[in-house]
Amino acid sequence: MQKKPKLYIPGPTHIQDEVLSSLSDYPIGHRSKEFSILYEEIMKPLSELLFTTNRIYLSTSSATGLWEAAVRNSVKKKCVNFVCGAFSKKWHDITKMSGLEADMISVDLGKPITPEIVDDALSSGKYDVMTYVHNETSTGLMNPLEDVAEVMKKYPDVLFLVDAVSSLTSVKIEVDKLGIDLILASVQKGFSLPPGFSFCTVSDRLLETSKKCKNKGYYFDFEVFEKYALKSQTPSTPSIPHMYAMKTQLNKIFYEGLENRFNRHKEMAKKMRAWAIDKGFGLFPEEGYYSETLTCIKNDLNIDVNDFQKKLLEKGYMISGGYGPLKGKNFRVSHMGDIHMEDVNEIIEVMDQTLEEI
Ligand SMILES: *Cc1c(COP(=O)(O)O)cnc(C)c1O
Repeated sequence: MQKKPKLYIPGPTHIQDEVLSSLSDYPIGHRSKEFSILYEEIMKPLSELLFTTNRIYLSTSSATGLWEAAVRNSVKKKCVNFVCGAFSKKWHDITKMSGLEADMISVDLGKPITPEIVDDALSSGKYDVMTYVHNETSTGLMNPLEDVAEVMKKYPDVLFLVDAVSSLTSVKIEVDKLGIDLILASVQKGFSLPPGFSFCTVSDRLLETSKKCKNKGYYFDFEVFEKYALKSQTPSTPSIPHMYAMKTQLNKIFYEGLENRFNRHKEMAKKMRAWAIDKGFGLFPEEGYYSETLTCIKNDLNIDVNDFQKKLLEKGYMISGGYGPLKGKNFRVSHMGDIHMEDVNEIIEVMDQTLEEI
C-alpha cells in the first residue's frame, strides 16, 4: 500500500498497513448503540495503556486543540507554562491567546525543566495551573516527568497538565500514580495513526474546576464532553475512521505487550544514539535527558543537512531537519510508534550510504 516516502519524522509517523486499511470501514451513526460499543472498546485498553481510572475524552482535532481546551477548562488565577522548545512555547502562546493570565518560565534549548525549576516557580503561590511538555519534540529532549510529579505533591492546589504528544504509548507514563490532572496526545506520533484526532485524560478535580471557568466556548468545553462521555458518545460527530483505527492499533499494542513496547523504544533510542556518536556527530540535548522516541543529532561533522535530507528522500526516506533556530545545526530521526528495530537498522544503512555520497 505504501508508496510514499517512509516516515522517520516525529509526526506523522510510519503506519502499518492493517491499521491504515481499518480507516476505510463503513461508518456507523454516532448516536447508535454500535457506536457506544466501539467507544467502550477503545476506552478500556486506552485506560490501561495510560494507567488511569480518570475519564478520557476523544477529540476530533489535533493536539493543538487540546492545548487550548486544557487551559480554558482550568486556569482561574494564573498559569505557569514551562518552556524548553518550540512546542512548550506554543502552549504558552495559546494560553495567552485564550485570554488567560500566564507566565512563561524558560530554559535554553536542549536543557530540561528540572524539579528545582518547577518547585521554585510554584513556591511563589502565584499559580493555580502548570503546563509541562514531557517530550520536547523540537529538541529531542525528554523532561524528568516522574521527578517533577514528586514535586507536584507539595502543591496539591496546582493543576498538573502534561503534553505527552510524542511520548505517549511509546514511553511508560503512569498517569494516576504521577497525579497528572490532564495528559494529552494526538494520534499521529507515538500512536502511529494518521493525523486528525487526539485524546486527553481529565481528573475529577479538573472537571470540577472546569465548571467554574468562564468563556470556554463550546467545542472544547469539558462539561459538554462529560455529558456525552457518560453515554459513551462524543459531543459532535467524531472522526469515526480514527476510532476504527484506534481500536485496531490498541489490539496490536496489547498483542506486543506494554512492557515490550516501552523496552523496544529504549533499545531503538540507544541504537540511534550509538550510531550518531560512532559517526562523529554529537547529541543535541543535555546528557541524561535524551528522548526515547526521537534522536536529535548535532551536526558536528558540518554536513549539508538539507542535501542529506534531499538525498534520503530520493531513496524513499524522510527524516527531519533542526527545528526553527536549529535548522542546519541538527537533524532528527524519529523512532516512535510503529518503527521497529529492523526499521532503525534500515534507516541506519541508508544514512550510512548517503553520508558517503555527500
Ligand atoms: C506535534 C506536537 C504537538 C502538536 O500536535 P498536533 O497534533 O500537530 O496539534 C504538541 N506537542 C508536542 C510535544 C508535539 O510533538
